[in-house]
Amino acid sequence: TDFKSDKQPTWCPGCGDFGTMNGMMKALAETGNHPDETFLVAGIGCSGKIGTYMHSYALHGVHGRALPVGTGVKLANPDLEVMVAGGDGDGYSIGVGHFIHAVRRNVDMTYVVMDNRIYGLTKGQASPTSQEGFETSTSPEGTNVPPVNPKALALSAGGTFIAQSFSSDSQRHTELVKRAIEHDGFGFVNVYSPCVTFNDVDTYDYFRDSIVDVEDIDHDPGSFDQAKDRILDSEKEHIGILYQDEDSVPYVEREGIEGSMAEIPDGAPDGATDLVREFY
Ligand code: SF4
Repeated sequence: TDFKSDKQPTWCPGCGDFGTMNGMMKALAETGNHPDETFLVAGIGCSGKIGTYMHSYALHGVHGRALPVGTGVKLANPDLEVMVAGGDGDGYSIGVGHFIHAVRRNVDMTYVVMDNRIYGLTKGQASPTSQEGFETSTSPEGTNVPPVNPKALALSAGGTFIAQSFSSDSQRHTELVKRAIEHDGFGFVNVYSPCVTFNDVDTYDYFRDSIVDVEDIDHDPGSFDQAKDRILDSEKEHIGILYQDEDSVPYVEREGIEGSMAEIPDGAPDGATDLVREFY
């Protein structure tokens, strides 16, 4: 697609991040976006490399801080399509505070998390979403705490679009990212994106055996209670749109927000897009 850069990914062969990125690029193209009008913010980790491999404006930010940067980009440049990408170590440990506030602010952007349940770039330490008992270099006897449930955090923080996808199910993953882009507000997509090098528990086979698509069962994405049941189910990994508030009001359209935002200072270049280009 137009969104593919000429850089060759250095991800390990078979890494789930390939499928996650391909779906993101397809979803952006199929929703009518153009690289000139798209800004990708990434954090740190294997997932953070994505800004190099995709062709758009991009910022490779600080660990756990991609969301506040994305929020600033979108508020200063409302016409840009803003996508934030990260991993579970990046977004649900050091970045978890930002995550909750980004969810409740409901700024109109998309957050895609490549959740492989391990720290890959630093060679295999337990992450916030590692399953309880998982033996890693930092937990040789197995982790002894339950994992963070990012979708439960999002639901309780007032999330308006919460989806789960699986990187190797290309068509479904692309569709879910598209729906997140189209959502009026903060579109959150957690993606099972296996790390084939350091995680021998949360493998492709594990997910294939555990996944239930909510499209195949009686599920109403508008129902908070049903979303809660799917998200807290410890037996199955539900994918699909788990929750969507069709009446979502994005941050800038909330009553009292317009007019309360800081003015762009005198002397700044005309048009926010020009400002972004200067930085790039
Ligand atoms: Fe992917 Fe894991 Fe390799 Fe990182 S270490 S590129 S997450 S397979």
